[in-house]
Amino acid sequence: MLVYEAKLKGKIDQYGKLDEAIRAGLFVRNACIRLWMDRGAKSRNDLYKYCKTLADNPDFPWAKLLNSQARQASAERAWASISRFFENCKKKILGKKGFPKFKKNRPNHGSVEYKQTGFKLSEDRKYITFTDGFKAGCFRLWGTRNLHFYGLDKINRVRVVRRADGYYAQFLIDHERVESREPTGKTLGLDVGLSHFYTDSNAETVDNPRYLQKSERRIKSLQRRVSKKFIKPKEKGDKQSNNYKKAKQKLALKHLKVSRQRKDFVVKTARCVVQSADLVAYEDLKVRNMVKNHCLAKSISDASWTMFRSWVEYFGKVFGTATVAVPPHYTSQQCSNCGAIVKKSLSTRTHTCSCKTVLGRDHNAALNILKIGLNTVGHTGINVWGEDDLYLSNGNDTQVSRLNEPENSNCEIGILTPSG
Ligand SMILES: [Zn+2]
Repeated sequence: MLVYEAKLKGKIDQYGKLDEAIRAGLFVRNACIRLWMDRGAKSRNDLYKYCKTLADNPDFPWAKLLNSQARQASAERAWASISRFFENCKKKILGKKGFPKFKKNRPNHGSVEYKQTGFKLSEDRKYITFTDGFKAGCFRLWGTRNLHFYGLDKINRVRVVRRADGYYAQFLIDHERVESREPTGKTLGLDVGLSHFYTDSNAETVDNPRYLQKSERRIKSLQRRVSKKFIKPKEKGDKQSNNYKKAKQKLALKHLKVSRQRKDFVVKTARCVVQSADLVAYEDLKVRNMVKNHCLAKSISDASWTMFRSWVEYFGKVFGTATVAVPPHYTSQQCSNCGAIVKKSLSTRTHTCSCKTVLGRDHNAALNILKIGLNTVGHTGINVWGEDDLYLSNGNDTQVSRLNEPENSNCEIGILTPSG
C-alpha cells in the first residue's frame, strides 16, 4: 500500500465544509462506540447497519449528508479500536488494554475517509471534487507527485486530513513495491538510546541531527508561552484571548514542522540501514513497555524509535532484507563474548567483563541483539502496512508524509501507523 498526499487548495468556505464532513465522520465513529458500550453491537456488520439507522434519523441531519461509504469507513475505525481492545485482552497484556474512547473534534486534527464514491478526480488528476451532501466542491491538488502512474481502480481510498497548516488529501494506492538489491553479506544489530539515535554492532553510532534538538528547545519555549497566556475559565463558556489562540497556532505549526523533519531523518536512516545489510536485528521495544514520563527528550526518542522501526520493517520488505525484533532482555547486562551477566547501572557507559572483553555499553548491547537476532527464526517484523492499521491512524495524523516533499529529498512517500 502506497500513500500519496497532496494539499487541498480551495476557498475558506470550502474548508468549512470539509470541517463539517470530518465532524460528521467523528460523530458516526463515536456513535458506534456508544452502541457497542450499550451492548448493541457484536460485529462490524452491526455497526454497518447502525450507519444506515443514523443516516435515517432526522435528529442527525449531518449523518445523512456524509457519503454512505464514508460513514462505513468511520464505523470501521470504531470497530478497529474495539477489536484492538479485544486483542489486547486476549493477549493478556499487562496494564491498560486500550478501552475504546470517544474522540473529540479538535482543531488541526482529524480526518474522514472516502472509499470509491463521494469524490471525483478530474481528467488531468489535478483537481478533486467532493460530491457528497456537504458539497465541499472542487479543490486543486497541490503536490509534486503524479497520480497518473496508477489507474483509478488502484486508488482504494481517499482520506481528507486536517492539519495545522491546512487540509490534505491522501490517496491510498494498492501497490506492492519491490526493489532489487545486491546481497551485502553483512548483518547488523541496533541498540537505541538517549545519547545516540542508535549504536550498531560495528560500534558505529548515529546521532539525532542537531536541528532537531534546536527545534525541540523552540517547542519548549513556545509551550511556555501558550501556558502563560492561558486563562483559567471562571465559568463554562469563557473564551480564551486571541493572543492565546495565536500562540497555540504557532506551537501547532512548529510541532508539524518538527514532526516532518524528524520523519525525513528517520526514513532516510532506515533506508540506509536496510540497504547496508542482509539482516537487521533490533529490540522488540513496545511503547507500552516504555515508561511514560514527562521528560520531553525521552518521549521524543521513544516516538522516533517506534517510527524508525516501522520504516525499517517496511524497507525490509521492499529490499528483501530480513528484519528481526528480539526480546529486550539482558541485552545490555550480558557479555556479548562469553554470555556472563555483568550488572551495571544506567550511568556505566562501558562494559568490562572478566573474560577481558571491554566494549562500549551500547556496542555490547548491539552485538547481543544481533546474536539473538541470528538465532531467532520466524520472528520477523510485523506488517505495518496492513489494512487494519490504516484505519487506526486517525489519531496521529502528523506522522503521515506529504506529497510535496522537496525535490532533492530522497524521501519515501508512505504512511506510518505506529500502534497506539
Ligand atoms: Zn565476558
